[in-house]
Amino acid sequence: MGIDYGRVEYGRCPCTGRYENRFVEVRLTVNGRVVVLTSVPQGACPTCGSRVYKAEVLNRIESLMKNERFSKRT
Ligand SMILES: [Zn+2]
Repeated sequence: MGIDYGRVEYGRCPCTGRYENRFVEVRLTVNGRVVVLTSVPQGACPTCGSRVYKAEVLNRIESLMKNERFSKRT
């Protein structure tokens, strides 16, 4: 999406595992339309399977969800 997320640090999972930095595809449904975000940075705990996202990523997803223009073109 052309965003520079910089260095991504997730720290430690509550289960004491350590989050691994990886990039995933995220599918969102915005007003009935599927929006796919690729290469979304995600922290994944290999021990318990917990997933976390950076605040910037969550903000971006939230703003996409709020973006009515995605489906309302009239
Ligand atoms: Zn964990």
